[in-house]
Amino acid sequence: MKELVLPLPNENATVALGNAVASVGDRGYVIYLYGDLGAGKTTFSRGFLQALGHQGHVKSPTYTLVEPYALQPRPVYHFDLYRLADPEELEFMGIRDYFHQDAICLVEWPQQGAGVLPDADIELHLSYDSEGRQARFVALSEYGESLLDNLKSL
Ligand code: ADP
Ligand code: MG
Repeated sequence: MKELVLPLPNENATVALGNAVASVGDRGYVIYLYGDLGAGKTTFSRGFLQALGHQGHVKSPTYTLVEPYALQPRPVYHFDLYRLADPEELEFMGIRDYFHQDAICLVEWPQQGAGVLPDADIELHLSYDSEGRQARFVALSEYGESLLDNLKSL
């Protein structure tokens, strides 16, 4: 499946979607998270991380650019590139070391890293929809398509 659109009527639905996506993956992969400020990218990431066993707060790594989570069976790196001045900064922070085969990378504001950021398996576009939000996934790799197939059949 190449594209999947889901309604997110409230915050809990965004958290639950993060839980669901985390539960269908079985290897390292990359998710780009698009959407205006307040669209729910960090809320989704919180649901994702909590489903993989992270307890406690999930902060926006707005100033540090990345927050690592040493989870089992694989690490999760949560990026927020909103304040990235130049994609080249990603080279200085050793971006390739994060995007290894076994890591899951969640990237808010990926457009800020265009040209340097490794490719994604899926994109999640979050948009405002009356009181709630809408989620639209686009698969960009074969593995991304299988993730969406599994998500659809949950
Ligand atoms: P972003 O990281 O995209 O800037 P956040 O996740 O930090 O956004 O903030 C999203 C805000 O919107 C939070 O206040 C959250 O409670 C709220 N929110 C998240 N999902 C929904 C939803 N589906 N419907 C309504 N409000 C939501
Ligand atoms: Mg955020």
